[in-house]
Amino acid sequence: MSQKVVIIGGGIAGLSAGIYAQKAGFESVVYEKHAVPGGQCTGWMREGHYIDNCICWMTCAKEGYDLWDIWKDSGICADGIEIHQHDYFYKSEMNGEAVYLWRDLERAEKEMLELSPQDKRIIKNFFKHVKLSENLEVPCKKPLDMMNLFELTQMGLKMFKMLPVIMKYGRMSVGDLADKFKHPLLKKMVMDYMPRDYLAHLFITAYGTISSGGGGVPVGGSLAAMLRMADRYKNLGGTLVCNTNVKKIVVENKKTTGILLEDGTFVKADYVISATDTYHTFEKLLDDGNRYIPSKLKKSYDDPKNNPLGSSFHAAFSLDMQTKEIGGRTFFDCEGFNLAGRKITRMNIKNYSFEKTKVPEGKSLVQVKILEPENEYLYWEKLYNTDKARYDAEKRKAAEDIQKAIEEHFPFTKGKLKLLDIWTPYTYNRYCNAYRGVYMTFITTKKSPNLTNVPGVVKGIKNLFLAGQWLMLPGGVPVALVTGKYAIQRILKSQGKKIELKP
Ligand SMILES: Cc1cc2nc3c(=O)[nH]c(=O)nc-3n(C[C@H](O)[C@H](O)[C@H](O)COP(=O)(O)OP(=O)(O)OC[C@H]3O[C@@H](n4cnc5c(N)ncnc54)[C@H](O)[C@@H]3O)c2cc1C
Repeated sequence: MSQKVVIIGGGIAGLSAGIYAQKAGFESVVYEKHAVPGGQCTGWMREGHYIDNCICWMTCAKEGYDLWDIWKDSGICADGIEIHQHDYFYKSEMNGEAVYLWRDLERAEKEMLELSPQDKRIIKNFFKHVKLSENLEVPCKKPLDMMNLFELTQMGLKMFKMLPVIMKYGRMSVGDLADKFKHPLLKKMVMDYMPRDYLAHLFITAYGTISSGGGGVPVGGSLAAMLRMADRYKNLGGTLVCNTNVKKIVVENKKTTGILLEDGTFVKADYVISATDTYHTFEKLLDDGNRYIPSKLKKSYDDPKNNPLGSSFHAAFSLDMQTKEIGGRTFFDCEGFNLAGRKITRMNIKNYSFEKTKVPEGKSLVQVKILEPENEYLYWEKLYNTDKARYDAEKRKAAEDIQKAIEEHFPFTKGKLKLLDIWTPYTYNRYCNAYRGVYMTFITTKKSPNLTNVPGVVKGIKNLFLAGQWLMLPGGVPVALVTGKYAIQRILKSQGKKIELKP
């Protein structure tokens, strides 16, 4: 009889663990508290419009990258699924001027040089490094700690071309990079996507992901991608149980015997994988979780000053027209409005018209996403729990201010925008148990104490494993995908079996 793997959480990491558990010959069940699988990678309908909450870009989602087979095998990029390539990473506007980070790097470089010849040296350097960062590979064959010297060397050689990017931008902040440019719009452009403190290599490699062609989005959106992933899991024989909250991981004599569901049912397991937020795992699911939390992770939670966290505020609108004047993500100045106690003077908007069949005829769906630091998450959390009416009123007021800013910048939208939905960083906690509403992992800054990989094992509980976005920098869909697979490889290793799992 095959052994049973119980997986907590039906987000990408949990579904990935489920898919590879089935492939490895285990019996597996995924328990998801929400009505639909996908976790943070999701979307929903409002008044006939599809609102997407997640994939703005994939990473290494192209033939030739190691990760491609896993993207395909997961169902996210199944055969026949069209992958939309963005024309540009984003566009920054200021005082009537605009600069595009085109996917076509030569075009982007040429236009930037025309805009600011005085920045020639830094522009050339910038594009040289973006091009090099197209060589980024997400390690995905096996966990780093399971690689032998030969495999580590092979991986190092593969990433060799990336080395100058890490050397040059690995200890430079986005703000430092912006300061190198003389043209005010170029300074703004560098800081539009990520806050000043983030390490600059994150920005360079994000752009490289888009320019490489491996950073497209699966047409149909995040929700459809997750439903395909869930189908892939079920077709392999896995069982997905939704609407079921897991209350506890039961531990006896340094082993987990299974999980306890919210309704009191005990589910016996040979192995448990917690594919939920790590804070939730150690704080809520495990009794005395402090005993077990990996020290690297604990240090980071305990030192928020040097390990900042981020989430975002969103507003989605129906636009009663089709337009090419609002396209990919576009940043622009606005008069200023209050959001969780901070004055917002820079806005951004994105038109989802590439999802052609996902809005009513003749309309468009436009979304605004404003990054919010941890203190603003705490603001929304407190407001929700102390004065829900004010929470609702404040988020509605912010959405009205956002709408005004859009109408001022794009006057042709006046009278044509209708608010469809608003959500705050606290929403991610309420729906997914996401610590501080985070949907990647810790943000790396110059002061970050180099938290790299969090072990996917739990010291002291030998048959409990972890998966999810918090285990590998910089988090996101690829990390969730890969760490789900790694959890199964760790189980196989603990059994002394071969760990190669072919997609
Ligand atoms: C707005 C936004 C944009 C993003 N854009 C991108 C992007 O462009 N590219 C990219 O790579 N990434 C992006 N991400 C990040 C990406 O969505 C996440 O990193 C990834 O989905 C995390 O997957 P996960 O499985 O690790 O965690 P989660 O998605 O959080 O999954 C955990 C699951 O566990 C469930 N759960 C929690 N507790 C319990 C419990 N007690 N019992 C049962 N079930 C439980 C939750 O409901 C959830 O379904 C974005 C995220 C957001 C929010």
